[in-house]
Amino acid sequence: MSNQDWQGKHVTVAGLGVSGIPAARVLNGLGAVVTVVNDGDDERSRAQAAELEAQGITVRLGDGATLPESTELIVTTPGWQPDKPLFAAAAEAGVPVWGDVELAWRLRGHDGREPAPWLAVTGTNGKTTTVRMLASILEAAGLRTAAVGNIGVSLLDAVLGDETYDVLAVELSSYQLHWAPSLRAHSAVVLNLAPDHLDWHGSMEAYVADKGRIYQGNRIACVYNVADKATEDLVRQADVEEGCRAIGFTLGTPGPSQLGVVDGILVDRAFVTNRQKQAQELAEVGDVNPPAPHNIANALAAAALARAFGVEPRAVRDGLRAFRPDAHRIEHVADVAEVAYIDDSKATNTHAAEASLAAYDPIVWIAGGLAKGATFDELVSGAAKRLRGVVLIGRDRALIREALTRHAPEVPVVDLDRTDTGAMSEAVREAARLARPGDTVLMAPACASMDMFANYNKRGEAFADAVRALADESA
Ligand code: ADP
Repeated sequence: MSNQDWQGKHVTVAGLGVSGIPAARVLNGLGAVVTVVNDGDDERSRAQAAELEAQGITVRLGDGATLPESTELIVTTPGWQPDKPLFAAAAEAGVPVWGDVELAWRLRGHDGREPAPWLAVTGTNGKTTTVRMLASILEAAGLRTAAVGNIGVSLLDAVLGDETYDVLAVELSSYQLHWAPSLRAHSAVVLNLAPDHLDWHGSMEAYVADKGRIYQGNRIACVYNVADKATEDLVRQADVEEGCRAIGFTLGTPGPSQLGVVDGILVDRAFVTNRQKQAQELAEVGDVNPPAPHNIANALAAAALARAFGVEPRAVRDGLRAFRPDAHRIEHVADVAEVAYIDDSKATNTHAAEASLAAYDPIVWIAGGLAKGATFDELVSGAAKRLRGVVLIGRDRALIREALTRHAPEVPVVDLDRTDTGAMSEAVREAARLARPGDTVLMAPACASMDMFANYNKRGEAFADAVRALADESA
């Protein structure tokens, strides 16, 4: 779309907040007539509204349901659920709905610059880690790049800012993909698929279908997880550009057109001249930080996308070596009385918690929070033998307690009936009481944090603070 196309166009932005406010500003700057609608009408949104109104943007607080008259396009905050009345009204009126990613995608190159291709990453778990590994590899190859999307740096900033990029490493959530119908990545990966956010999507089928949109129109490679057949099925169903290849990653020995692991070496049998007979060494398992199995899978996925973009093997190794994991992802906080305390606050669903529960033995597990429609039987039965004890926190903890009763009745459970922020200190104390020397206290809640904390970062910080207080007392 050229700049003229936006002049006088009536655009409704759904939702104030992290993505709504910048979208409203950008559209206003392009000459569109912008109205922001927002469900809430609290002090914070009134302050935000006043700022936008000073720039000539209309804001309607306390009514996110009514479609403003003459709306030609809705740009929605990805968090807004598709079954909201506003979207029903839009469908009825034939008004298209775009998310923040779709908007960024359409605005690429609108200022005449050559747009950077996108290497896109989604999946239930490991997105942020993989995108950061990928950006690190691309940087090691001397490319101008950034890790963007559902990760801190907004895509709008990346697309419209002064910086020029050769390629972008883009993290996309299922919500963003839902609202991004015309996105066409250079290459993309779905890392894994497990039930998550089902309350938002309505069903597992709808969630998987939204994830699968990431492969639509890929030009060079659709990367899938050999161990997760559902990801391969999505590749098969995708409508891609002629010549686009399906590339698998596996923790085992790779077949042709796959990346995998042989004798502790990450190898590429996809982007080599003779893939029937040859494999290219990329890096050693020890170059991946931390070298836990799920993380090696992330590294292989990142390597596959980088290789699809033409990056040399050496840069894959250098980029993986330079990568440092973000906070609250299996982070070792301290050892107290010969017990290790691990913060995996980012394990906000059962699939993530499963990966970290598999990495320790014996475990005192701190779990609970908002379940988001998940069930816990599989997770609990898989980990039961390694559990020394469990401390439950948060609103939906009864769901985990019931699964424990069914699959691990002999494991002692402390059920904390409080959701104030002080609950985490009590949880850590209870965990310390249950633990014996050599054990690991693992806070991998398998649930979202918003019933007790602003976000998973705050939950992780509360845990780390409590552990440090415990360390000080026992010093
Ligand atoms: P996302 O951005 O998808 O939430 P992160 O990279 O932030 O993913 O990791 C989130 C959590 O998921 C981590 O704390 C870890 O426990 C778990 N995890 C990371 N990679 C994987 C993977 N490939 N498979 C399963 N679990 C994973």
